[in-house]
Amino acid sequence: MSTFSAPKGTYDLLPPDSAAVLAVREALAAPLRAAGYGYAETPGFEHVELFSRGVGESTDIVTKEMYTLTTKGGTRLALRPEGTASVLRATLQANLHRAGNLPVKLWYSGTYYRYERPQAGRYRHFSQIGAEAIGTEDPALDAELIILAADAYRSLGLTGVRLLLNSLGDRACRPAYRTALQDFLRGLDLDEETRARIEVNPLRVLDDKRESVRRQLAGAPAMRDHLCEACKEYHEQVRELLTDAGVAFTDDERLVRGLDYYTRTTFEFVHDGLGSQSAVGGGGRYDGLSEMLGGPPLPSVGWAIGVDRTLLALRAEGAAPAAAPATDVFAVPLGDRARRELFTVVTALRRAGVAADFGYGGRGVKSAMKSANRSGARFALVAGERDLADGVVQLKDLGSGEQTPVALPDVVEDLRRRLG
Ligand code: ATP
Ligand code: MG
Repeated sequence: MSTFSAPKGTYDLLPPDSAAVLAVREALAAPLRAAGYGYAETPGFEHVELFSRGVGESTDIVTKEMYTLTTKGGTRLALRPEGTASVLRATLQANLHRAGNLPVKLWYSGTYYRYERPQAGRYRHFSQIGAEAIGTEDPALDAELIILAADAYRSLGLTGVRLLLNSLGDRACRPAYRTALQDFLRGLDLDEETRARIEVNPLRVLDDKRESVRRQLAGAPAMRDHLCEACKEYHEQVRELLTDAGVAFTDDERLVRGLDYYTRTTFEFVHDGLGSQSAVGGGGRYDGLSEMLGGPPLPSVGWAIGVDRTLLALRAEGAAPAAAPATDVFAVPLGDRARRELFTVVTALRRAGVAADFGYGGRGVKSAMKSANRSGARFALVAGERDLADGVVQLKDLGSGEQTPVALPDVVEDLRRRLG
C-alpha cells in the first residue's frame, strides 16, 4: 500500500484482468474496421459549449455529470463525457464531409468522464468503443451499425444481450407528439424537478426509472401512433433489414433520447445480469446535431458501447474471454555467459515475430523455471556453461517436459517451425 489510492469511481486495470479488456475492445473494434470504419481519436477535453450544445443543456450529462475546468488562460473546458459530439466536431473541422465522401464512417475508443454516483457498472472514468456514420440517411446504415454491434457481442460469446428498438420520429412528426405527451404528463402527480422536465425535455420523463413514475406512464401517448409516413416507412425498413440479418429485437416505446436532434432510429443493448446498470450500449440517429454545432445538415447514426459493462456482462455469464498466453518462449540463463548469449537469442526471436521473455535478475534455475511456467510459454530455452561450450541450448517443451539440445544458430528457425 502507498499513501495514495485511485480516486472514487475509478479503478485500475492490471494484469491478468486487463488482458480481457483488450480482448473486449478488439472484438468490438475489429468488425468496424472490416466494415469500412476508419479510426478517429479526439482530445480528452473540449470546449464546454461543444457538450452543452452537442449533448444538450437539459440532459443529466450536462447539468450534473460533467467535469469542467477553467484554464489559466480563462478557457472553459470539460473532460469529455461521451464521444459523438467530439467526433462530429472533428469531422466538420477537417471537412471530411465534402460531397462524394459520404457517409463518413468513423470508429473510436477511449475513456470518458462523468461525475456520477459510483456503483457496480457505473464509474466516473469509464471506457467506450463508438462508431458513427455521418452524412447519409439510409436505413441500411442504421441496420449496419446495429448488426455490427450485435455480431460483436455474439463473437465474444455473450448470449444474454437483448436489443431494444424504437423510432423517435423527425422534425415533421415529433412536435405534435411532444405536445400530446406534455399534455398527458402535466396531468400526473410528479415532483417539482420532473414537472420542470416536462417543459424542456418531456421525452426524458418516459425514461424515468422510478416505480412511482413508471406506474403513471402506463397510458402515455406512444410515438408509434404519431409517426409520419416517411418515418414509418424508414423504421419498417430498418426492422426488415435486422430481421433479414437474423438480429432479434424488441420494440420498446419507452426508449427515448430527449433532444430534438435525435431522430428516428434509437436503440439500446441491455443485459439482465447487470442489476440496474443494464445498458451495455446504445445509439441512434442524430440528424439535427451537425446543424446544432454550426455545420450543414448531415443526417447521421451512431452508437457507443460500454467496455466496462460488456466485460461485467461476460463475467455474469461466466464467459470472460480467455487471454491467449502472451509468451511463447521463456529463456533461462545459467551464468553470465549464458545471460549474454540467451539475451541475444531472445532479441532475435522477438525480431522474428516469436513472443519471448527472459529470466532476469540472475536468479537460480528453480526460480527462473517457475517464472517460465507462470508465463504460459510453451517452450523454455535453458543454457549453462557446458551447453554453450557444446554450441547448443536446451529446448524444453514445458507441456511434456521433453528436452532436446538445439545448435545455437538454429534456435530461431527451429522454434519458429515448432510454433507454426
Ligand atoms: P445509463 O442509462 O446507464 O446512465 P447512458 O444512457 O448514460 O447509460 P450512454 O451515454 O448512451 O449511456 O453511453 C453508452 C454506454 O456507455 C452505456 O450503454 C453504458 O454501457 C456505458 N456507460 C455510460 N455511463 C457509464 C458509466 N458511468 N460507467 C460505466 N459505463 C457507462
Ligand atoms: Mg447515464
